[in-house]
Amino acid sequence: MPCSYKSEKGEECQFCLPEDKLIPRRSVGEKWCTYHLPRSGTIGDASDKSSWSEAEIDEFNIEIRALIDGDFFSGEIDFDGVVFPSPANFQHLIVNKPITFRGAIFLGTVDFVGSKFDKTVIFNNVEFPSITIFSQCEFKDHAIFINSKFYNQPSFINSEFHSAAQFNSATFIGANFTGSKFKESCTFKQASFTGAMFFENVKVKSLSFENAKLGEELFMSYCNIGSVTFECSASVKDELLEFNVARFENTTFDNAVFNNRVFANTTVFTNAIFKQAPKFHNCKLHQDTDFEGSKFEDTRGISARPYRTLKLAMENVRSRREEGIFFSLEQECMRKNKNISRSIRWLSYLYGAISCYGQSVIRPVLILIGIWVTFSVMYALLLSPRISFFLPFDQGIIKDSFVFSFEQIVNPFYVWKSKLISIIQNTSPIIFKSIAFIQSSISIILIALTLLSARWQFKRG
Ligand SMILES: [Zn+2]
Repeated sequence: MPCSYKSEKGEECQFCLPEDKLIPRRSVGEKWCTYHLPRSGTIGDASDKSSWSEAEIDEFNIEIRALIDGDFFSGEIDFDGVVFPSPANFQHLIVNKPITFRGAIFLGTVDFVGSKFDKTVIFNNVEFPSITIFSQCEFKDHAIFINSKFYNQPSFINSEFHSAAQFNSATFIGANFTGSKFKESCTFKQASFTGAMFFENVKVKSLSFENAKLGEELFMSYCNIGSVTFECSASVKDELLEFNVARFENTTFDNAVFNNRVFANTTVFTNAIFKQAPKFHNCKLHQDTDFEGSKFEDTRGISARPYRTLKLAMENVRSRREEGIFFSLEQECMRKNKNISRSIRWLSYLYGAISCYGQSVIRPVLILIGIWVTFSVMYALLLSPRISFFLPFDQGIIKDSFVFSFEQIVNPFYVWKSKLISIIQNTSPIIFKSIAFIQSSISIILIALTLLSARWQFKRG
């Protein structure tokens, strides 16, 4: 009678031990190899791995190492369905063949710290009930943990993944990937997280949390992320959509998609860099959403829409400062959209140049002062009978010009109403009045923009 193990697909035991090496479980009339021997036995059966002595566990772990290093497995190293007693100590392994642990069961702590896997590693449908360490590991090929369950904050700290890493449909109670590098993609599609998720200082080419249930806290600061998606299908249940506390300080995103998520708590993007406009389509943002010091490098015409979405979302939560930032980005993108009429683009350009789309009060005031001085000089030149650097300055003309120029700002167009204006009696009145008309028009626009900006600032405050 061979080992009683059968895989989910009905495959028999891969270890082919002779019958006299199998361990009997008399109560159920079965015989098992030492690898597949299940966790629980019945009193009187010497088959309960959870009650093995330290020496028995050490011997088991040494046998596993010997199978990895030896030539028992010519191709793939197959530990499918193996039940590992605790602790499963496999530090600094060097595995140069593909290795699989499908459906394996670890009864306690698991430690693969500093291990190197040259070929594909498969841990699908594996349960990790206790402390689990994959820190400082190097995965040179695919690392696949689909549908696995990590019940005690697994550590993948400072590990390197040279090829795709897949944690789709996995369950995490806590997770720590701090300092890891993913040269290709890392996917957590439909995964479920509980508790804190640490992804700080991570470098990754593409990252997916599509339809994943996120934990209570997500720390993703100081990361360098190619593309990331947290998109949820609009049809998924409400509790899956929720984004809790999320911190993305100083993180660089080439492309970030958050579509359909509901941000239910503090969300911090302080000093983050977005190389493309982030997409928050159909999101609900939290009022404690902070984009302080963030840089948005994308000003392509097609990016006006994502900025508009963000502007409206920030308007909904009364975040005036962020609303202003996204309005100005939207306008900047619109200016590059050739489908929008030239006059509107030109007006948008002027609005941006003069007051940063309402974000600057000082700038229109400074331009107004510049206009006052510039036009004063023009009036002085017009009033001077002769212009030469060798002649002394006529202080009377200069004073009159500055006063006249100031009057065009505070009392616009009055030159066209009054017939007795001594300063222009001896010059060409039409030219003088035309220039004054231009100055008054520009001044009115500048004063209006200053007041508008001041109102914005006040409203925000
Ligand atoms: Zn077996």
